[in-house]
Amino acid sequence: MDDVTVGGGAVALPVDTAAVVRATTRAMISPHRWTLWTQRPRLIAYCLLVEVVAIAATVFLVGRTHLQLTDAVVLAGLAGMGIAQAELGRQVERLRRLVNATPHINMTSVWTFAAVLLLPPALVALLVAVLYTHLAVRSWYRLRRVPAFRTIFNASLVILTCYSAASVLAYAGVTGMHAALTAQWQGVAAIGGAAIVYFVVGALVALPGLTITQPSVKEFFGGWADNLLEIATLCLGMLTALALATLPALALIVVPPMLLLHRGVLAKQLEIAATTDDKTGLFNTTAWRHIATQELARAQRHAQASFGILMIDLDHFKQVNDTHGHLAGDQVLKGVATAISNAVRVYDSVGRFGGEEFVVLLPDIPETTVLAVAERVRESVADLAVTVLSDDDTAVINNLSVSIGVATYPHAGTGVDRLLQAADKAMYSAKTAGRNQVVSVTATA
Ligand code: GH3
Ligand code: MG
Ligand code: MG
Repeated sequence: MDDVTVGGGAVALPVDTAAVVRATTRAMISPHRWTLWTQRPRLIAYCLLVEVVAIAATVFLVGRTHLQLTDAVVLAGLAGMGIAQAELGRQVERLRRLVNATPHINMTSVWTFAAVLLLPPALVALLVAVLYTHLAVRSWYRLRRVPAFRTIFNASLVILTCYSAASVLAYAGVTGMHAALTAQWQGVAAIGGAAIVYFVVGALVALPGLTITQPSVKEFFGGWADNLLEIATLCLGMLTALALATLPALALIVVPPMLLLHRGVLAKQLEIAATTDDKTGLFNTTAWRHIATQELARAQRHAQASFGILMIDLDHFKQVNDTHGHLAGDQVLKGVATAISNAVRVYDSVGRFGGEEFVVLLPDIPETTVLAVAERVRESVADLAVTVLSDDDTAVINNLSVSIGVATYPHAGTGVDRLLQAADKAMYSAKTAGRNQVVSVTATA
């Protein structure tokens, strides 16, 4: 039974590893229970298509593969290092996935891309299967109960990505790292081309499957840090292949930089998670207050400085939830967050103060202009139409409106809390005056 966990180690099989094995066995003998069938039809179709193509291509390539002992040794070496790295970085990866669920980024590219440069494609597929089984059982399943179909789908995507990168090498007539060593610049170009294709195809093939569950392209592609991670892992993959083709024992030197890279990414993602509101991507309360306090200190140093604060509350938002459900309500909150951000300057800070309440800090702005900006925000939300999923169908939600309270420094107060209180009071005045309007402290004073 241990060999199902691939490298999981025979010692002290943890209870839930055994449970995973039991669940997998049960699922394999009863396909009608697969979680896959509970997904949307388009996702099911795409999963099956990707898997069928990956299997067909692999069967075709197996027929053309002549297994050599050196290939088997390289495969075992890459699998061993991949498993060692995953085990050593398991705590970091768990935390990373808890704070950031960017799906197509993971560091196995180091080993799979090295394999593309060293092994016949069919053996690359075998390596992907080994590494993904190990990751699924040891990291992903325990953290989020990632269903098996996701792992199989992701592994199939990686296999197709590897095949497309390998085809670049075949097309260039450079069959791998050994050939590249004698092909000089042509070898460099072929490996560079394979890396670019790996990166681009890897992102693209996952896209149709993910747009269904992940609405925003930005969410899918992840931030610059995530993509830098993917690029760095491909670079380390090249170095691994180079070492294995020349001085194999030297390949071990990539493991420490990988663990360090992993921690660096985690630190960055923790920083983002600590300052960002999950639902909307805006600043959270703590981060917004920190920025406002800094802005206040800056304004106090300059005699003529002024800045504005907008307190924004959605009107009758409860009705949206009651009519379309909470998930649709969340999508509306995202839409409103984008509408507010689009109506202000890039260096204005937009935050979510929980619920359906937003705040905007407008630095360096004369008191007279703050009202105009608030009016622009109000109109931007009024023009908004959000398409949401409602009872298995889509609905368009428009006719949204906000009540906005405005307070400016120094007129309405000289501390962040005083200004927030003033803006809040003005916002409630806007509510009682009939909603969908802007009220400033000056006007109510
Ligand atoms: P008003 O015009 O007086 O502001 O009316 P309202 O319905 O917007 O105000 P109220 O404070 O009565 O209700 C706010 C609602 O916002 C209640 C709550 O269900 C909803 N809400 C708060 N946070 C969230 C959230 O994160 N997601 C969703 N979907 N709804 C939320
Ligand atoms: Mg409200
Ligand atoms: Mg409210």
